[in-house]
Amino acid sequence: MEPLLPGRFIRRKRDGQELGDHEIRQWIKAYTEGTVADYQMAAFLMAVYFRGMSGAETFALVKAMMASGEVLTWPGYDLFKVDKHSTGGVGDKTSLILAPIVAAAGLAVPMMSGRGLGHTGGTLDKLESVPGFNTQIDLPEFDRLVRANRMGMIGQTTAICPADRKMYALRDVTGTVESLPLVCASIMSKKLAEGIDGLVLDVKYGNGAFFKEQERARELGKALKAIGTQYGKKVVVLLTDMNQPLGAFAGNALEIFECHEILKGATRPGVRGQDLYADTRALSLELAAQMLHLGRPDLKIEACRAECARLLESGEALKHFELMLSSQSGRLSELPRAPHAHVVTADRAGYVQGFDTERIGYINVALGAGRLKVADVIDPVAGLEFHAKTGDRIEAGEPLVTVHGRDLQRLRDVATDLRAAIRIGDTTPPTTPLILATL
Ligand code: URA
Repeated sequence: MEPLLPGRFIRRKRDGQELGDHEIRQWIKAYTEGTVADYQMAAFLMAVYFRGMSGAETFALVKAMMASGEVLTWPGYDLFKVDKHSTGGVGDKTSLILAPIVAAAGLAVPMMSGRGLGHTGGTLDKLESVPGFNTQIDLPEFDRLVRANRMGMIGQTTAICPADRKMYALRDVTGTVESLPLVCASIMSKKLAEGIDGLVLDVKYGNGAFFKEQERARELGKALKAIGTQYGKKVVVLLTDMNQPLGAFAGNALEIFECHEILKGATRPGVRGQDLYADTRALSLELAAQMLHLGRPDLKIEACRAECARLLESGEALKHFELMLSSQSGRLSELPRAPHAHVVTADRAGYVQGFDTERIGYINVALGAGRLKVADVIDPVAGLEFHAKTGDRIEAGEPLVTVHGRDLQRLRDVATDLRAAIRIGDTTPPTTPLILATL
């Protein structure tokens, strides 16, 4: 067996040569064990970013990353196990609503989530804004929690996909997120390690997604589905719009607040009385219905939609959400709130034409809602509150966005940038569907 020579391995990818299954496995193992350094992995990731990977290489990378840790097997636990994963967005908080709905519907949701990546938020960071909430529980305890509550939400422990955990943090700060094979391997290695039977993927396109064009997102969706299917999993992919932040809030504790509100049946009126939670609620319900449909193929998708809506409206999903939080030591009643808020008003009247969503995500990161460097610490209370969505009428001087945080001057400083990231014009813009396609 040839020894792994990191410099040579990186050069081979840099020069566009196809890497073999065995050497990819050696590379990931060496990185996980610490004999390949972060700077070498960063160089490799950049080489993959520019050169791409063949289907066989991508499959080998998924396998190697999954094998870097344990794979859950759930002995004697016969419930259909299903999860959902999103390719990432701003204000994208649907996991926290759909998981309790699906658990209430009788399926098991063992969810392993990631942290924020680039300009996008991560479920793990959101959950950690709940005081006391423990995302780093060991696998025997996770197994116990899921069997007891039909759901659990954890981060990647060192036991599960440690390779992805390290690579994900590195990609976040080295400009190597937007690579189709890297996104595929990151998502599928984690999800396959959960030992699930079914997976619903929310693949985002638009100016707040990693893959902006619909066609690239579709390509990613097909690649993800192909890998899942090769592993014998039932997979559904939804292509969804990320041309504006989802819902009313972007920021960790603020998004937990929005989810809790939606689960309690609340609406949130914007400047014209429109419900700013409508898109979060609709997308969460559709993703939940698709998850239920994977586990209950005997039900028509329409019946799954009706059941998920009923579980949300009846408060049964809320009970599962609260149970999940308290079982993992979270104290929702102590959810922190920012000491300061600064309202950014519209400087003209008109219709909201659209959002520069990635820019808004980065403004949020700079406020403390995400990370610029691996070691950065998240400020759970930092975030943005939107008062209007694309197509809404707004008058000059009406609130457009409220910035929440600890340092009032910092909140004021982002006002110009925020105004520039939300275009207001005279005509109503064309509408785009929230859910473009189901693959
Ligand atoms: N979500 C992930 O888990 N990984 C990626 O690379 C992108 C989105």
